[in-house]
Order: sequence, then C-alpha cells, then structure tokens
Amino acid sequence: MTTTYAYAATDAQAKLAPFEFQRRALREHDVQMEVLFCGVCHSDLHTARNEWKNTIYPVVPGHEIVGRVTAVGAGVTQFKTGQLVGVGCMVDSCRTCPSCAEGLEQYCENGFVGTYNGNDRETGDLTYGGYSTQLVVDEAFTLRVPENLDPAGVAPLLCAGITTYSPLREWGAGPGKKVGIVGLGGLGHMGVKLARAMGAHVVLFTTSPSKIEDAKRLGAHEVVISKNADEMAAHANSFDFILNTVAAQHDLNPFLNLLRRDGTMTLVGAPEHDHPSPQVFNLIFKRRRLAGSLIGGIAETQEMLDFCGEHGITSDIEMIKMQDINEAYERMLKSDVKYRFVIDIDSMRQ
Ligand code: NAP
Ligand code: ZN
Ligand code: ZN
Repeated sequence: MTTTYAYAATDAQAKLAPFEFQRRALREHDVQMEVLFCGVCHSDLHTARNEWKNTIYPVVPGHEIVGRVTAVGAGVTQFKTGQLVGVGCMVDSCRTCPSCAEGLEQYCENGFVGTYNGNDRETGDLTYGGYSTQLVVDEAFTLRVPENLDPAGVAPLLCAGITTYSPLREWGAGPGKKVGIVGLGGLGHMGVKLARAMGAHVVLFTTSPSKIEDAKRLGAHEVVISKNADEMAAHANSFDFILNTVAAQHDLNPFLNLLRRDGTMTLVGAPEHDHPSPQVFNLIFKRRRLAGSLIGGIAETQEMLDFCGEHGITSDIEMIKMQDINEAYERMLKSDVKYRFVIDIDSMRQ
C-alpha cells in the first residue's frame, strides 16, 4: 500500500495543511480507489473548526468523493478495477438494526461510521475522508456513477445531492406541489435542480440579490429575497413543503408563515448555534410541521445518482486545487461560491 497524501486540520484554529498516512490493507469486501474529485461541503468546515464539538484531530474532511477503482478485495462482486465510483458521508453501519434493515443506514441505531471523523467498526481507527489521494471502502457503501455525467460535477451529489433528494422524495415534491428551497448554496442549488426535475413548482429563498438570475437558470420558477417582508407576505399560507438548507442560525417564523395547512418545513442546515424556537401558535393554527432530515441511505443515494443520470443533472462547480482549500472555506462563509467547490485531487499528485 502506497502513502496517501491528504490535507488535515490538527485543531479547531489550524488551517488545513498537508498530512500523510497509510490506508488499511484490503479486506475481503473492500474497494480501493484513487480519489479524483472531492466536493467541499459546509459540514467539512463545521467539523474542521469543531463547531459541532465532536471533532477528533487530526481530521481529513471530504465526503463528496468520486474515484476510480484501483483494486478490489477477494469477495467484492459489484465493482471492478477501472470503474468510476462514488462515496458519500458514510463508510459503514451496523447493518442489522431496524433502520439498517430498512436501508436507512444514516439513522443506524448503533451509529453509522462517518467517512471522516468516525471510528472503524473493526479496529476503532479514526476514518479519514476524501481530501486525500486514495480511499478504501466496503463495497456495500460504494456507489455506481452514471457514465454520461461529468465526474467532477457528480462529486457534490454524494452529499448535497442526496441530502436534498431524500427529503424532497419523503415529503412528496412533484407535480402540483409548491416547494420552497431556502438558501442557494451547495445544498440549495441541488435542491432547486432536483425539485424542478421532480416536477414541483419551485420557489428559491435567498439573502443574496446577486443570485436571482442564477436561481432561475438553475430551475427556480420564482425567487424571493427572504429579508423583504412584502415579498415574503405575498407567499403566505401557500407552500406544501419548504426545505431549509441555511448554514447559520436564523428566525424560522417567517418561513413557517408561508406553509399552508398541514405543510412541512424540513431543516437540513446544521448551524453551529441552534435557531431560536419558533412561535408555537405558528404551528398549532395550521397544523404545520417542523422536521429534520439527515443525508439519505445507500440505496436511495444510488437511486438519486441514477435519477441525475437520467435527467442530466450535476452540480455547478468551481474547481480548486487542494492547496486553495483554506481560501475556499473563507469564501464559503461569505456565501461566495457558485455553487460548490470541488477539489481536483490530482493537484496533490503533482
Ligand atoms: P453553503 O454552500 O455554505 O450554503 C448555505 C447557504 O445558506 C448560503 O449559500 C446562503 O444562501 C445561506 N446562508 C448562509 N448564511 C446565512 C445567514 N446568516 N442567514 C441566512 N442565510 C444564510 O452550505 P451547504 O454545504 O449547502 O450546507 C448547508 C448546511 O447544511 C450546513 O450547515 C451543513 O453542515 C448542513 N448539511 C446538513 C446535512 C444533513 O444531512 N442534514 C448534509 C450536508 C450538509 P443565500 O446566499 O442564498 O442566502
Ligand atoms: Zn456534506
Ligand atoms: Zn444499524
């Protein structure tokens, strides 16, 4: 096994910097890949800076991974050398609990193993993510990448794609439904594309007037500046479903006001500090629901990738070199990315 080159944070204040380690020797069901592209999710930044208070250092972030298979274990049946594959936020789970049995590994009752900042179920070793030249993953957590799609644009589907696809499906986004997407970042722009492809009427809420034209190009039927009370009021009591992807603490009431009776707003954004509790009456009077959702299971992730293959959907990306990651984090904090940074992992091989 050759040395794996990576970028890691060594504490919450540290910039990401070069880091070397060895991937494990192949187990029976393991797939080894050279990583080609890795998306930059806001969760990477939350974790690198210990904003969720659970980071184990050193941390090698990255869970939007596209790679090419370089070797497979003796028991691998679904993948072969040379194949293009994807890996998302999980690399293992208990596989026996009721949630795992339903294909909802992200809700594994014994805890799924994160692609980074997790502990291997056999050895307890810390897992290291996709900001690295190589990866070894069990085939049960490896995805097939549609061949008609640009592999760099596929990488963000492995987290931003599935995290928006899963709740849109769960809450029935489709023809005749009015669906709101809050925030036009990595998750939000995938939410717009996917909800549009599912046939819903899509309204994008943004705090950035400069994103209006892009939102329409990406598939939004309407765009609302969420800080403008009059624009918000025009949509009162009209939404079947709102998917809130905002990465920072904010007031939920203005969005709950927009749900019709029995409408749901689902939170996927995971800010460092919780939102203030919304007004209870805002929920009671129209039997509105406030919900949450975590990524998606492996089978649903494959379904999402196949859906994107059929509809020609990829992420809008800004390609960066690994060496530019710290600057990319600062731009992400300013909502200044169109609409996902993707690291060209070859930049670590030169
Ligand atoms: P991102 O690219 O930074 O996008 C977040 C967007 O939120 C921004 O583009 C901005 O959109 C909006 N925003 C940011 N600060 C805001 C503020 N102070 N007030 C209002 N709006 C603000 O982040 P991302 O990668 O899409 O991730 C979004 C969140 O989802 C993160 O917290 C991440 O950790 C979380 N996440 C959760 C899951 C899950 O399974 N639930 C999975 C992945 C990520 P506008 O400029 O349009 O306003
Ligand atoms: Zn993510
Ligand atoms: Zn389980």
